[in-house]
Amino acid sequence: MYENRQYQAEAIDFLGKSLQDHYGVALESPTGSGKTIMALRSALKYASERKLKILYLVRTNSQEEQVIRELRAISSATKVRAIPMQGRVNMCILYHMIEDLHEINAESLAKFCNMKKREVMAGNESACPYFNFKIRSDETKRYIFEELPTAEEFYEYGERNNVCPYESMKAALPDAEIVVAPYAYFLNRNIAEKFLSHWGVSRNQLVIILDEAHNLPDIGRSIGSFRISIESLNRADKEAQAYGDPELSQKIHVSDLIEMVRSALQSMVSERCQKGDVRIRFQEFMEYMMIMNKKGEREIRSLFNYLYLFGEYVENEKEKVGKVPFSYCSSVASRLSAFSDQDEERYAAILSPEESGYIQAACLDPSGILEVLKESKTIHMSGTLDPFDFYSDITGFEIPFKKIGEIFPPENRYIAYYDGVSSKYDTLDERELDKMATIIEEIVTKVRRNTIVYFPSYSLMDKVENRVSFDHMKEYRGIDQKDLYAMLRKFRKGNGTIFAVSGGRLSEGINFPGNELEMIILAGLPFPRPDALNRSLFDYYERKYGKGWEYSVVYPTAIKIRQEIGRLIRSADDVGACVILDKRSGQFRRFIPDLRKTSDPASDIYNFFSSLKAREKYSA
Ligand code: SF4
Ligand code: CA
Repeated sequence: MYENRQYQAEAIDFLGKSLQDHYGVALESPTGSGKTIMALRSALKYASERKLKILYLVRTNSQEEQVIRELRAISSATKVRAIPMQGRVNMCILYHMIEDLHEINAESLAKFCNMKKREVMAGNESACPYFNFKIRSDETKRYIFEELPTAEEFYEYGERNNVCPYESMKAALPDAEIVVAPYAYFLNRNIAEKFLSHWGVSRNQLVIILDEAHNLPDIGRSIGSFRISIESLNRADKEAQAYGDPELSQKIHVSDLIEMVRSALQSMVSERCQKGDVRIRFQEFMEYMMIMNKKGEREIRSLFNYLYLFGEYVENEKEKVGKVPFSYCSSVASRLSAFSDQDEERYAAILSPEESGYIQAACLDPSGILEVLKESKTIHMSGTLDPFDFYSDITGFEIPFKKIGEIFPPENRYIAYYDGVSSKYDTLDERELDKMATIIEEIVTKVRRNTIVYFPSYSLMDKVENRVSFDHMKEYRGIDQKDLYAMLRKFRKGNGTIFAVSGGRLSEGINFPGNELEMIILAGLPFPRPDALNRSLFDYYERKYGKGWEYSVVYPTAIKIRQEIGRLIRSADDVGACVILDKRSGQFRRFIPDLRKTSDPASDIYNFFSSLKAREKYSA
C-alpha cells in the first residue's frame, strides 16, 4: 500500500524551512499526490506563525475550483477565511448587461464603476442596481466566508440577489486570510497595487502560491506582450466615424491616420509574409509609415499623440451618456506609440498575416515581469518543473527545489514510443500521414479503451482524421465550453476516442479519474511550431545561455508530454498506457525514465492491459 502521509509531511516541512531563508521554493510533485493541499498546509503554517496573508494564483477556472474545493475541506476542520478575487472585466454584472467590448481594460471599467456609484450615492439607485447595502451585509459576508464560493458561483449569487460580486469581494477583502486570484489580475501592476491596499497587505506580508508554475514563463511573456491588428484598427476607424472624425492636424483626419497605419501594416504583410509570420525590427514599422506617407518620425509620433487625445475625448463623451469610458482609438494610439520604443534584445517585433494581419511586440524574456513576485515569499508548485535549471534560468527564480518522484506503482503504467513514423514538418508527406493514420487505427481498434489522441496541430489532426474510419469525437478549432463539456460527458461514460490538440484545453487541468481515461496516443511530438516567435525565443536563449534548442524546444515539449501523461494516472489503483508516435522521442527518456521503444504498439498495449487483468485475478 502506498503511504501518502510520509512524503507529504516531508514536502510540507521542506517548503516551510526553505521559505525561512529564501524568497521562494519550488516543488515538483506528480498528479494525484495532493499538490494543492501540500502547498496550502505549508503556506498556512508559515503564514500564521508570522501573521502573513496567502495569495493563491491560478490560471484557469478549473484550477480555481480545485483550490476552493481543498479550502472547503480544510475549512470544515479548521476555519479559514478565504475569498476568490477577479477583476471587474469578469465580475461587473452591469457591464455584462449593457456592453461587451473587445480589448476592454480594467481602468475604463474602474472609471465606469466609480461614475455609477457616485450616481447611486447621489440618489439615482437605478444607475447600478447592484450597488447597495447588501455589499456589506452580514448575509453577503456569511455567504462568502461560510460557503467559500468560486468566482463564477459568486457572480451567479450576485445576479440572483441583486448585489455586486466585485464590490462585495472588495468589502470582504480586509477580513480574508487567503485570496485566490488569476495570475493576470495580480501581475498587472496597477491592479495589484490597488488590490493590495484594499486588502491592507504589503508585498512583503504575502506568501504567494504559484499554481501549475510550469506555465509561469508563458504567463509572464503574454502579460509583457501586445499587438496591433487590422481588426483593432478597424474598430478604431468605426469609432472615429461615430464620433465625427475630426481633423487631427494639417488636413489629416482621424480616419486618415488610421488608414495610414492600416496600409503600412498591409503592405508590410504582403511584402514580407509570403511564407507566414516573420520577425522584423521594431523601427521598421515606423520606416514604412515615414516612406509611404512622406513624413518625418516626429510628425508621425505627434499624430499618434493626437489620436490618443481624440480617444480621451471619446471616453469623455461615452462617460456623459453613462457608457463605459473606453476608446479603441486611445487604446490603439498608446500601443502605436509604445511599439517603436521596445527593446530589440528582450522583445521581438513579429509581423503576421494571421487574423487579417498584425504586428506584435512579443516579450521573449519573462523574468523582468516576474521580478515583482520576489518581493513576497513564493511557493512554485507543479507536476512538471524538472529540469529545474531550465525553469530557474527562464523565470529568474534561483530557489531551492524538491522533486517527489512517482508515488504510484510503476507497473500500472506503460509508456513507449513507436519509431515507425515521424511527424517532422519537412518529411510529413502523404506516405508518412498514411502510416500515422494506420497505426492509430490499429491501436485504437485493438485496445478498445477510453483514449485521447493528442495531435501537435489542428492541421495534422484534420489530415489524419480524413484517413481513419473508426468512431471518434473531436476538440475542433474554436470549440465552445458547452460542446466541450458535452463531449467530455459522453467520453467519460464509455469506450470512446477523442482527437485533441497538444497544449489545448484537454491537455492540462482536466481530471479523468479511474478508467475514464486509459490510453493516450501522442500523434507526433508536440514540438513548438517553428514560427517567428519560437525562432526568436531560440535565438534569445542561444545568445543568453548557448541553449536555444534546449530552452525553446526541448523543455517546453517535455513539459507538454509529461502534462499529457499526467492525465492518465490519478491514484494508486489507476492504470494507463501512453504511446508517442515519433521516432525522435528517444531524446525525451531523460525526462521520462520509463519511456521504452516499441515496434508494435497495438499488441504491446493490448498485452499490457491483459497482463493487468491476469494480475487482478491472481491477487483476488
Ligand atoms: Fe459593476 Fe458592481 Fe460597479 Fe455596479 S458596482 S458598476 S455591478 S462593478
Ligand atoms: Ca486512468
